[in-house]
Amino acid sequence: MVFPEYRPRRMRRTETFRAMIRETRLAPEQMIYPLFVLPGKGVREEVSSMPGVFRLSVDQLAREAKECLSLGVRSVILFGLPEKKDGLGSGAYANNGIVQRAIRELKNKAPEMTVVTDVCLCEYTDHGHCGCLAGNEVDNDATLELLARTALSHAQAGADMVAPSDMMDGRVSEIRTALDENSYHMVPIMSYAVKYASAFYGPFRDAAECAPQFGDRRSYQMDPANSREALREATLDVDEGADILMVKPALAYLDIISRLRDEFDLPVAAYQVSGEYAMIKAAAEKGWIDGERVMAESLIAIRRAGADLILTYFAKDMARLLANGQ
Ligand SMILES: [Zn+2]
Repeated sequence: MVFPEYRPRRMRRTETFRAMIRETRLAPEQMIYPLFVLPGKGVREEVSSMPGVFRLSVDQLAREAKECLSLGVRSVILFGLPEKKDGLGSGAYANNGIVQRAIRELKNKAPEMTVVTDVCLCEYTDHGHCGCLAGNEVDNDATLELLARTALSHAQAGADMVAPSDMMDGRVSEIRTALDENSYHMVPIMSYAVKYASAFYGPFRDAAECAPQFGDRRSYQMDPANSREALREATLDVDEGADILMVKPALAYLDIISRLRDEFDLPVAAYQVSGEYAMIKAAAEKGWIDGERVMAESLIAIRRAGADLILTYFAKDMARLLANGQ
């Protein structure tokens, strides 16, 4: 059927037609909102490169969680800024560490909120790398035990799901084993299976104060030029027991999200990272783009590419827009 018999514009003529045949939708419960937790009391500090995103002390979390819940956003992912850092990132797996306290606070004050935790060492190490060091290199196998301890301590504090983001080889199975041996076999693992060494993380490193003190993360995070390698990484994580596969960043890696969607039957998550958020916010502030529409378009594009869920700093803004009937 060709023109003039077939006219695609017929079904675009009204909003009802457009809504009727819309192929992709986004709902608030498909978004996970990242929270940065820092020491102190009554602290609510805006991240300068991420307008609208705040670093919060533990006592401020319940209010934030309740706002999310009122908008239909039912999950948060926690990142912690510890009081002090050391070579082994011991704040990451301390029983009374910043994230462990945050989990308990949220489970107490907002029990309906699903609490996911980022599992990594970079916010807790004085050198800023995602594992412990042997010389100037990150020691993969020695790091695994520390990551497993971190994940276990999150589960013990009440985390609903753990999300390792370090890109060490073998960490999913190490974490699965540690959780299972301690009766946390029902705590799922959302693996940052395909995490690229990306410049889009810039603003996050301000927010979480975790820029590496020397070198960069290219010896463990993936080369942005590689796509087949993403499938190998994801295959390993599936075999090791991951429950959800994540791609990070999102918008510059839609092809990777799409490949994972085609190749695997596990849920696929995508992380719309700080740089993606900051670029949209900054251009909108300058009046160069319509920030709301670009936000909505980028999120639906990530869903269309195949992501079931999206970690995004826009979760609350987008949920508000959805509630207003967009
Ligand atoms: Zn890290």
